Amino acid sequence: MSSPLPPIVRAVRALPPIGRQIASVALGRHISEACMAYQGDDQAIPTVVLSFDCDFPIDVEALPALCDALSARDVCGSFAVVGQWVDRYPEQHRAISDGGHELINHSHTHPNLRNTSYDFAASEEFTERMFGDLSRAEQLDELRRCHEAVRQHLGVEMAGCRLPHFGNLAPETAYGLMREVGYCFSSSLLAVLSPTLGAPYTALEGITEIPVAGCPQHPFTVFDTWHCLVKNGGRHAAEGEFLQLALGALDSCQHHGGLLNLYFDPKDVVDHPDFPRFLDTLVEAPVRVVSYETLLADTA
Ligand SMILES: [Zn+2]
Repeated sequence: MSSPLPPIVRAVRALPPIGRQIASVALGRHISEACMAYQGDDQAIPTVVLSFDCDFPIDVEALPALCDALSARDVCGSFAVVGQWVDRYPEQHRAISDGGHELINHSHTHPNLRNTSYDFAASEEFTERMFGDLSRAEQLDELRRCHEAVRQHLGVEMAGCRLPHFGNLAPETAYGLMREVGYCFSSSLLAVLSPTLGAPYTALEGITEIPVAGCPQHPFTVFDTWHCLVKNGGRHAAEGEFLQLALGALDSCQHHGGLLNLYFDPKDVVDHPDFPRFLDTLVEAPVRVVSYETLLADTA
């Protein structure tokens, strides 16, 4: 894809981070629509990936019920898992592999999980160091140990990675590590910051980057449940608002034949009333819901 980026995206990307956030609030919907129009292909089947980051033990507890909700609708999910939790809670993680869902590497300890403002994140067992602050050898060890935990406990050889605390790290620095572990894809970059504005593309070291959707109203922020429902009470926590945003993103994806690569936290969606409603709409929509590996195989 080599056509020039939409002017609105180029202009806002050129701003410093604070300017981006302000412009994003004012122009977010237009920017999101411009991204989907740019990355989409009218002739293509609109595609959704439903991914979940299993960062905390409380996310792991939600896995059996969440996997049941997906399997009941014959929907495939992709789960970014943390090696130390796979070691500690193999049964809960088995719900992923037994349900035929995809696993991707989310590091062994998930550096920088601790946040004393939230009870689920306050424990001293969570590290405060950022992944980007680790040495290269330590980063490689994080990926290798998670890969080994999943292979040992679940018998699955993962093929890709989502870097931890994604959004605060340039994934370019880690593509070489992913290649060393034998991976072929990453989903670690925000759509609006990617060269394709959301379509999969070949990045450094031959790794295919599959960018993650931004919030339809705040495209420089990931459209995750941390942003929508949790952080400071959530930016889109009013009744039905999360559902409306998700359905709007799905509509745009359908209209433009694009890729909507969603990322939610299991603990936030498993009992949220909007989530089953979104799944029910998704399975009726003229889109395909695929794993990252299927997406790659189809676009190869
Ligand atoms: Zn938002």
